[in-house]
Amino acid sequence: MTWNVWQLSPFITSIFFILGIFTLYEVLYDALKTILQAKNINVDVDLVNSWFGVIYMLIFVFGMQSTVAGTSISWQFMNFQLMAVIFCAYFLNIRVPYYYFIPVLILYMIFDSSLGYWESWAHGAVLMLFYISLNYLRRHQKSHPFVYYILTGIVFGSVLWLFMKIKFNFAMSTYLEEWSYLIIFQILLYSYVTMILRDSELKLRLLEFANHDALTKTENYAAYVSEIKYMFDESQKNKLLLSMMMFDIDHFKEINDTYGHLAGDKILQQVADIVQTVIDANNPKIKFYRTGGEEFNILFPGYDLEATERIAQEIFMAVNHSKMDIGDKKIIISISVGVSVISEQDNEPNDFYGRVDDNLYSSKKNGRMQITSK
Ligand code: GH3
Ligand code: MG
Ligand code: MG
Repeated sequence: MTWNVWQLSPFITSIFFILGIFTLYEVLYDALKTILQAKNINVDVDLVNSWFGVIYMLIFVFGMQSTVAGTSISWQFMNFQLMAVIFCAYFLNIRVPYYYFIPVLILYMIFDSSLGYWESWAHGAVLMLFYISLNYLRRHQKSHPFVYYILTGIVFGSVLWLFMKIKFNFAMSTYLEEWSYLIIFQILLYSYVTMILRDSELKLRLLEFANHDALTKTENYAAYVSEIKYMFDESQKNKLLLSMMMFDIDHFKEINDTYGHLAGDKILQQVADIVQTVIDANNPKIKFYRTGGEEFNILFPGYDLEATERIAQEIFMAVNHSKMDIGDKKIIISISVGVSVISEQDNEPNDFYGRVDDNLYSSKKNGRMQITSK
């Protein structure tokens, strides 16, 4: 239709079609990630990317093939299908064993009514090798990746198209044309995906930067605000337990004044490391934030006051008993702590936060280096 309506060669429209397929994939995958994040579902993003990629490409391959399956032109969409394989093997670098391919290939041949042709079986076997080679290259070929990627396409493309030339007995010129289109598509896909990935990696790094404290590597106040809002709502809605611990380093100004700001910074890092170690040993669901200068906040989803007090005590002991390295000196610091649990009377996160803050203030007022919990 592109020839007779728009006067555009099918080759040009194919390019936009292929790039469109991958753009749609990126958009849908981004949307899926946003939904998972909004629902606070912790999943391995690489795994989601892999499986979503495979399912998406299978729908695309089978969907397109359904219009020509079993006909004398059933090879027409082969370059699109090869692009889907290249995308899954090279760009998504899906780590599934090669034999997973066998049932898919057989299903495809049944669908395409090509089970009875040796060329189709040979094609399937070479396709599997193509997949394995691209997958391997992506992981192990670190120098001149593009050269290897394109050479693999040229070699495998020539063999794959040769089987189809024999099976459908089309002209040499068609064979050469389709083979060269494959190489052009491959080059375009490489440039396009590299560009898109660079963009999304940058976005990821910016997000990481926006949510983390550069000094202590803990999450920052902005991350705390968004998390407490979510946890508070979930907890009130579903009657889930939630508790909070805040702590502040005692007489920190004196440390700065005595040893200098850089020493103070180092102590903040060491305190954050110690606290994170205690949290990791207990439960990775406990979230740790640096909410102010020498003030930190910890959220305990699903914890009652007693269970929180136990871990608060562990953190308190670990920090207060550690010797902090400052040059060749070692000093001991202390913290004051406030702990509380969410109550049905809390209307907003700040009601809850205010109670924990009051408890921390009581610890300070009553002589520091203590835990107030109620
Ligand atoms: P208190 O026991 O009552 O908490 O006394 P304090 O001295 O710890 O409290 P104060 O609020 O008077 O001082 C906090 C100090 O923390 C002041 C500020 O210079 C220091 N501070 C805040 N952020 C940083 C930082 O990133 N690095 C360093 N080195 N110091 C910081
Ligand atoms: Mg302080
Ligand atoms: Mg303070």
